[in-house]
Amino acid sequence: MKLKWLSGLACLVLGTVTVYGQTVQNKDLKPTGKGWGERGTGALPAANPAAKARAGSNGISYHGGPVMTSGLNVYYIWYGWGGSYADTKAESILTNLVSTEGGSPYFNINSSYYNGSNVHVTNAVHYKGSTVDNYSQGKSLSDASIQTIVKNALPHLGVDTNAVYFVLTSADVNETSGFCTQYCGWHTSGSINGSDIKYAFVGNPARCLSACAAQTTSPNGTPGGDGMASIVAHELEEATTDPDLNAWYDSRGEENADKCAWTFGTESTASNGSKYNVVFGGTQYLIQRNWVNASGGYCSMSY
Ligand SMILES: [Zn+2]
Repeated sequence: MKLKWLSGLACLVLGTVTVYGQTVQNKDLKPTGKGWGERGTGALPAANPAAKARAGSNGISYHGGPVMTSGLNVYYIWYGWGGSYADTKAESILTNLVSTEGGSPYFNINSSYYNGSNVHVTNAVHYKGSTVDNYSQGKSLSDASIQTIVKNALPHLGVDTNAVYFVLTSADVNETSGFCTQYCGWHTSGSINGSDIKYAFVGNPARCLSACAAQTTSPNGTPGGDGMASIVAHELEEATTDPDLNAWYDSRGEENADKCAWTFGTESTASNGSKYNVVFGGTQYLIQRNWVNASGGYCSMSY
């Protein structure tokens, strides 16, 4: 997941910035889950060596790893969100998002992706529940503490390998590996208590609306929460088609949602003057587009 002002300069960034400097090569690169490619390391799960990357005629390639074809379950871990940082509107719209986007023309874009047995992704998302973590790891988090937060939540939410666990932080919490400066969210997988657990971090853009939100007046009156909705959608799409960072991504290491980050297509104007481009469950959202793996490949809000 890139920052919006990085993605707006994608071509320039690709050519000139060090983080990309070594990645523009013919060989495919493994994504980090944080929105830009990097060379694969032993720390990442190995792709199936028998499955060569299929040259993608749609601008994205399959690398042999698992794809979440049956519809992901979603769990939310509300980290913080108490006291003066309560944002019940944000909690409401984020829960509504993953409760209603399954079955939509928007989520159906993911059904253009498939696994090594040619089984396509089902157009389904199942919201399964949430728990609250009251700052158990403090307000300055690392990547490792995100995994600890997920691990601590599993006894409450249940161990589910067909799920993505979202750590959603309140506005007084930072993620020090680069939230607001390098990324707005990320997803990955890890072995927790012996299970392959998919999880994601989505920070609160209220900390940095200029970097991680598309607008400062938002359709639901919570710029941080509305900004998070687009990031949650992005990470969910990537966790579906590239859960272990070894399935669907392009030659620059960009996953499906990365290829359309911060693009919204046709926008409408909400009653408060803000922009939205999709309605889920009666609620207006400004959600980024996703990459369709068909017809040569293109960003869209529907398929
Ligand atoms: Zn991404």
